[in-house]
Amino acid sequence: MKKLVLVFLVYGLWSMIYGLSFAETADQAYNSAHECYANLRGDAGAQKLREPWERCIRLFEMVRKKYARSPEGAEAQYSLGRLYEELAFNSKNLADWKRSVKEYGSFARAYSTNKLADDAYFRAACIEWEKLNDKNGAKKDLIKVIKYYKNGDKAGEAKKYLEAVDAGTPMNETDLKAAVVKVPPRKTENKAKSIIVVLDPGHGGNDTGAIGPDGVKEKDLTLPISQKIAAELKKQIEGVQVYLTRNEDKTLDLGERVRFADKKKADYFISVHANASKSGKERGIQTYYLNNASDEASERLASQENKYAGRKTSNLEKIIATMLQNEATDGSRALAGSVHKKIVSSLSKKYSDIEDDKVRSALFYVLVGVKCPSILVETSYISNPKEEKRLKTDAYQRIIAASVAGGLYDNIKNYKPKTL
Ligand SMILES: [Zn+2]
Repeated sequence: MKKLVLVFLVYGLWSMIYGLSFAETADQAYNSAHECYANLRGDAGAQKLREPWERCIRLFEMVRKKYARSPEGAEAQYSLGRLYEELAFNSKNLADWKRSVKEYGSFARAYSTNKLADDAYFRAACIEWEKLNDKNGAKKDLIKVIKYYKNGDKAGEAKKYLEAVDAGTPMNETDLKAAVVKVPPRKTENKAKSIIVVLDPGHGGNDTGAIGPDGVKEKDLTLPISQKIAAELKKQIEGVQVYLTRNEDKTLDLGERVRFADKKKADYFISVHANASKSGKERGIQTYYLNNASDEASERLASQENKYAGRKTSNLEKIIATMLQNEATDGSRALAGSVHKKIVSSLSKKYSDIEDDKVRSALFYVLVGVKCPSILVETSYISNPKEEKRLKTDAYQRIIAASVAGGLYDNIKNYKPKTL
């Protein structure tokens, strides 16, 4: 009997904690997506590009998928209609208008009692009539507003609009400057613990890191890239705290970097580097997580990046490293996977011949002793003339930065430790 009571107690407690964290997570996820959108609204230049819209759309899609049965899921679905509408307004792409109609329709059908359901049908009708020349589609959606939502705030407008469609009158409700379109607002401040990220710009000061054929020093690339990652993280993840192990050109040994992460109580540690090879021919992106079981090539790179630690890796150190890292290895591997995937796919959209040089594991001192999921990103090859040139540019650095932040975001949303 006592056992049974205990079981119920534990179960009750567990579901309370789980329920609480679930609510906060849906809230937090929606806010991150909304923040992405709010930032985009404030950036006229970015609105003209496709990628920033797609980034926000992905965030809303994630909320919709994960929290379909919560209010946040419904709001995310409506927002998708809205984002595609705004994207289409900028891109003038017919497929984007169609997608907007589809998303609004999905919302109205799935959440028919939601207060925005009539708005969704109305928006869909406006686009069908004004942009897709689909008279029947527009009429069907307007009739739904008039018939099923006759007490709603859109019924009157829908009647007038239907008359115009019947008469073949051109309308202008999809001009975003003229149209009043509702967007679900961001949620109230969430009380979830904020995430702490320590970024580690590789090398610095006396330690130049690798030097490219055109004289570019690795230490001078890792800092601006890390600073851009910090800015992106703040944009993409609500309430994130970001610290850099160095914010200037100064010498730091690997131990100092690890202790810094420890002191800041980092949840994630990301070390930023540029790769180098003797021949200068190798190219591509590599992402590492710490492991002592590594292949020969990884071993070579590790010895190159570890040079400043001023010692060779002993077997004992390997064992200690493995023990320290064991609990975080699963998390590190998952983080490496999502960050790597994001960098390669984003760069490939803009640049030809981006090589996916895989997620690997190796023994990096800078990752040893960091108790949280930690990775080392080799952003490209500084020893390759073409990649050296790219690495210097603001555009290339920005894509890498947005991808690292996006990859971390994906990881937070998708990765659940096995113990849960
Ligand atoms: Zn390096």
